[in-house]
Parts: sequence; structure tokens; C-alpha cells
Amino acid sequence: MAPQRRTKPAPRRPKSAPARRTRDPKAVQAAVAGLIRALGLDPATEPELLATPERVADLYAEIFAGLDPGAEPVPATFPAADAGPVAGKRSDDLVIVRDLPFYSLCVHHFVPFFGHARVAYLPGKRLIGLSGVARILEFYARRPQLQERLTAQVADHLNRLLAPRGVAVVIEARHLCMEMRGVRKTGCFETRALRGALAKPAWAGVLDAGRAQGRLGTGARTRRGAAG
Ligand SMILES: [Zn+2]
Repeated sequence: MAPQRRTKPAPRRPKSAPARRTRDPKAVQAAVAGLIRALGLDPATEPELLATPERVADLYAEIFAGLDPGAEPVPATFPAADAGPVAGKRSDDLVIVRDLPFYSLCVHHFVPFFGHARVAYLPGKRLIGLSGVARILEFYARRPQLQERLTAQVADHLNRLLAPRGVAVVIEARHLCMEMRGVRKTGCFETRALRGALAKPAWAGVLDAGRAQGRLGTGARTRRGAAG
């Protein structure tokens, strides 16, 4: 992405007071109505457009729920020792969650990107259930997003929540902004975020087996690269 020229430095926000964004459904409706007019469409002659601003505002409320103040999930965790003698031994007891589906919207073009995530962690003292991992993925996917950032946010959230010895998150996704416009090619982008011990060469490829290749329906080989 080309660096933007600024005439004034961006305002700095203190770290202790992160910006809280509040969606405004009425403003979203008005913006969609404006977009319809800007496209030269007229609800007076195309009555099926009459309720579109309201429908899109409802849709955005759902798919951007991750922007809502207080929406951050606080999934239950439990002590690793409670999971039994194997998980409690702090050996290389890797936990892997595969094939978690997600849908998100590309922040650059506001069209969907979607795919699957694989998550692995080497437990420290606490464990998390499958639904907890899914809720974290869902929270960060439900906002205008970059695949790279989504991958990193899920990894960092798990790192904060569980203080594990290592975390690995791999996301494979199709981007409709690449398939519907531009080069109009299907392809599957893969992004990885590796933290702690799982960033070390000894664990390289820990999430390679059982990849979601083919399930995305592209028929294309997975390749790594900048997404969006
Ligand atoms: Zn895009």
C-alpha cells in the first residue's frame, strides 16, 4: 500500500483510552440511500430498492458486530492440570483446532473474503475450549478486515488470554475483490501468525498437515502472499 501524504500529523490517542467506535444505523441507512442515488438508481422506478438501505444497515449490524463496544469475547478458560495428566504435564502437548470457517469483509473494497482457520497452541497453565477459539475468530472477522491483521489478532488474543508457550494461527481464504474485479482470478491466500515456541524452526509446518486445500473450491494451490 502506498504511504499516504498527510498535511497534518494524525492525532495520537493515549494507549489507556482506545477509541470506541459506535455504529449509527440511521447514518448507515442514509449513506446506502445516497450510494443508490449516486449509482443512478431510483427507488421510485425500482421499488425493490425501497427497503435496501434498511436491509443493508441490518446486514452491517450483524457482519460488523465485532466493532461494537463491549463485544470482545471473554471465553472460559480452565487450568491445564484439570484436563488430565497428559495435558497437565507441560510436555509438548500440542492442541490443534482445524477447519474453523469464517466470513469477513475486505477493508479495502468492502466485499467478502472467507475461508478457514487452523489454530494450534502449546498450553501453559490454561486451556480454552473449541467454541472459545471460534468466538475469538468470529469477533475479529466481524469488521472490515485485512487477512494478515485477522491472523495476528487471533494469535495475540490467545496469547494474552492463555499465556501459552506458543501459538500458531494459519488462515486460508478466498478474496472476492480479487475474483470479481481486477485480475478476476480465483486463488487461496494463506497467512500465518506464529508466537512463542511455535515460531521456532523446530515447529515449522506444525499446521501444514490437513490443510483446507480444495475445500475452498478454487481448485488452485494455496499460495502465500499479501491479501486484500
Ligand atoms: Zn480487497
